Formats: sequence, C-alpha cells, structure tokens
Amino acid sequence: MALLVILDGVGDIRARGKGTPLEEAKKPNLDGLVENGAVGLMSTLGRGLAPGSDTGHLAILGYDWKNEYPGRGPLEALGVGMELKEGDVAFRANFATVIKNQIVDRRAGRIETEEAKKIAKAVEKIKIDGVEILFKHSTEHRGAVVLRGKGLSAKIKDTDPHKIGELHACEPLEKTKEAKKTAEVVNKWTKKVMEILSQHEINKKRKLPANALLLRGAGMHKNVESFEKRFGMKGACIAGGALYKGVAKYIGMDVINVKGATGDRNTDLEAKRRAVENALKKYDFVFLHIKATDSFSHDGDFEGKKGFIEKIDSAIRFDFETDVIVVTGDHSTPWSLKRHSGHEVPIIFSGELVRKDDVKRFDEYSAMRGGIGHIKGKDIINMIKNYMGKNEVVGS
Ligand code: ZN
Ligand code: ZN
Repeated sequence: MALLVILDGVGDIRARGKGTPLEEAKKPNLDGLVENGAVGLMSTLGRGLAPGSDTGHLAILGYDWKNEYPGRGPLEALGVGMELKEGDVAFRANFATVIKNQIVDRRAGRIETEEAKKIAKAVEKIKIDGVEILFKHSTEHRGAVVLRGKGLSAKIKDTDPHKIGELHACEPLEKTKEAKKTAEVVNKWTKKVMEILSQHEINKKRKLPANALLLRGAGMHKNVESFEKRFGMKGACIAGGALYKGVAKYIGMDVINVKGATGDRNTDLEAKRRAVENALKKYDFVFLHIKATDSFSHDGDFEGKKGFIEKIDSAIRFDFETDVIVVTGDHSTPWSLKRHSGHEVPIIFSGELVRKDDVKRFDEYSAMRGGIGHIKGKDIINMIKNYMGKNEVVGS
C-alpha cells in the first residue's frame, strides 16, 4: 500500500534573512524519510503556474485539471456531505448581514457554528420554478448550495462581491436560456431566503443578523472515472477541510472522518496519525491532508509555519509500514508573499523500490540536488504505482 501526505502550501522561499520554514524547522522524522528515499521538485500544474488547492489536488491525484475540474462549488458541496447528481449546479455559500440591500458584514459577525446550524434549518430546502435548492451548513458562516433541476447552467455571476457594499443581482455570463434561467432562479431564491431569515427568532436578537446567503464558485457537477477504476487502487482520504474531502469524494474515494481533525491550526494530528494507521490496513492508497501550513503562510507568519511543521513531524512520525510514502505540498505559499506562487514544491518518495539519493534533508534547497529531479503533479500516482511494483507495461 501507499501513503500520500499533502502539507498544504508547504513550499516556500528564503526571505528577510531567514531560511525557508522547512529549512529552519527541526523535523528528524521527515529528514529520516529522505535518508531512506529520494527527493525532488514538483510543479503541480506546470512550470510557474500558481495552483489553487482544488486544481492542485486534482492534478496530484491523477486527474486532468483542465477537463475534469467541476469548479469549486461542487467540490465544497461534496465535502460538506451533500450528494450530487450530474447536471446539478453547486456553490459555496456564506451567511451575511444585509441591510437595505447593503452587505454590512460578509460573515454575519462571524456567527458561531451552533447558532448558524439552527438558522440554516429554515432554508434547507426551497423550490423555485421547478428547481430544487438545497442548502447545507458546515462551520461558522459557511455552507454549500445545490440547484437541482432541468436546463441549468454554471455560467452565472457570484452574488458574493467578496467585499462589503451593494448586494448585486445574479447575472448570466453567457447568452443562453440555461444561464438566464439559472440567474433568475438564484435571484428569486436569494430574495426568498432573505424574507425567511429576517423573520427568524435568533436573528431578531442578533446585532448582525445572519439574514442572507451569498453564493460564489458556481460549478456544474459531472461524474468522472473513479480513482479505483483509473489506477487500480482502493483509496481513502483523511482530511479536516471540506474541500479536500470533496475532491476525494468527487473521484470516488472513501472519506474517513476523524474526530478532532478540523483543518485548522488546532487540528488533532495524533488522531489523524491513528486514522492513517487503521486505514493502511484496509486500503491500497491513503491520502492524508494537513491544512494549516498554508494558513500560516497566508497570514505571513514564519514562526507559526515553522512551529507547525515541527508539530506535524513529531505527531505523524512518518514511520508507517507501507511500500511507499510520499510527502509533498499542493503548491508553494511563500510566507513573505502571503499567497500561492508558482515555485516548485519539494517532494519525498520513500520506500524499498525507490532509488535512494544522498540528500539527507527535506527542504526546497536540498530538493534541488535530489534524485527525483523535476516532476509534474500528474506524474505522482504513476510513480507511486511503480514503487509499489504495481504498474503495467505501456505497449508490449
Ligand atoms: Zn493548497
Ligand atoms: Zn492557500
């Protein structure tokens, strides 16, 4: 079996007189993996491209990010546990405070999860013009919305302007009757949701009522070939964040929910390690995702990222009995830039069949000298299969 560990946004660059967080962190277990394997650099989507976490993960898991990416909405909806059918249009959604058609707060005063869950019940299922509209709340102000009906389109504008100010109507982005109809349904639904939520008992007591739902990231769901069919391995995913669970569900992997795995900096890494150990008994392929490395970089927090890498090293330990362990990131997120970049990401392959190199440390600069050289995201699963001794000969 194989274990793929993605440390989100782990790749970095040297800045302001400091080495990268990977260079400066004490991480004996990750460095030990390198001693029993080989390292290199990986461009997730292609040289110089800055991946999103969604396209990045699809590419690493062996999917064509240009033709098999359904958009962010369907992945989020799957990740929060909604079932999708081909042709459904899905969005990310968030509770907001709207007063006199002005968005006053995009997160409804960072409403707490428990309170948001109660309010959500009032708008879970609404039907407009023959289209069923489902809402599922996830955490705090967040959730997902699914439109189900005939003749829909995802070519419509977000109702979330990503900033405070006037609430705009949803507009079609192309001149088709499907886009026009979908935008109309979204507008009627937005109005109806605001009517219902404004009357809600909880909202009457809130300073910033959660009285609207803003939508973004529209995408149309389609069925893709499963990971098992494509690669001949039964796969499982262990992650906290909804997006990563959603990517796994989209490609037909089992999602193992771990109590305490939150996808943030307080996630229970020990619990995740135990879940990996158990999953490796049942699955050919286990994908472990850890998010907070990326979050610290978005905050420009060098010490936070370095410290979190050390925490991962001691909690996960990377001493699992498998044919191959791979550790990498889905992209670089340099803490000095506070955003995703196109810099290559270091990658370790460790296992019996890996040709070992003489690099002894896991970081961006050591990886430049590694035996794996330079690969793309789409090479990873094939390389894992090779190191498992499972690949078929191409041709004869
Ligand atoms: Zn990411
Ligand atoms: Zn990020």
